Amino acid sequence: MTPGIKPLVAGNWKMNGLNSATGELEKMRDQFKSTLSAKIDLLVCLPFTMLAKAGDLTSRSPVKIGAQDCHSEIKGAHTGDISIEMIADCGGEAVIVGHSERRTDHAETSTQVLQKAQSVLHWGHMAIICIGESEAQRKQGDTLDVLKKQMSESIPDSADNGEIVIAYEPIWAIGTGLTPTVGDIEEAHRFMRSYLVERLGDKGNAIRLLYGGSVKPSNAAELMAIDNVDGALVGGASLKADDFLGICAAYE
Ligand code: PEP
Repeated sequence: MTPGIKPLVAGNWKMNGLNSATGELEKMRDQFKSTLSAKIDLLVCLPFTMLAKAGDLTSRSPVKIGAQDCHSEIKGAHTGDISIEMIADCGGEAVIVGHSERRTDHAETSTQVLQKAQSVLHWGHMAIICIGESEAQRKQGDTLDVLKKQMSESIPDSADNGEIVIAYEPIWAIGTGLTPTVGDIEEAHRFMRSYLVERLGDKGNAIRLLYGGSVKPSNAAELMAIDNVDGALVGGASLKADDFLGICAAYE
């Protein structure tokens, strides 16, 4: 945790979810207690196809919705792509950019991630920029160098009208049940904080730093208590309301 920063628990549903089965999202909306929403922000990043319906379902609740990617331009000849304007049109307030699965599956570069983030921020929305090392990079002792390179290449200098959030997601911890040690997460987040303050001045102190990678109800309290961990980016455990709200309970 960082004193003065409201934590954010963000879910990433990846390529899961249908408009014919929104029960878990409705349960999150109905069971996210107001005592807890005063303390943390809750965000669910859904497949594009669910955004419009999810926007309607959550419009009068503290549960925010977002997307998992966007194009860097607002409109034009980009077959199959979706812009921040379209996401906002459905009620989306945030976009995950540079998730390792997109960097791998779609060969996304840090330059593209930067441009996507700039588009989201210019629109006045939240860009969750993902960074993280591979297993081989950690074994070689390169973790902090990798994080520094990704941060210098993917994070815009200005948040424009929006909010920059950084998610540290070690690639080897995603969906594997493995997590770094508390000491390793603490070191990575301390490094990220000092990099941001050095580059952006005091604004770097206000940026939310999420940890992501196999967060679940049973380890959330320990992980969320680490210095400079201002919330979580959650994949698998965000699909079920009981698990996702179980993670949020770490803040009760
Ligand atoms: C993710 O993909 O962003 C993620 C953190 O996944 P999981 O929680 O399933 O490890």
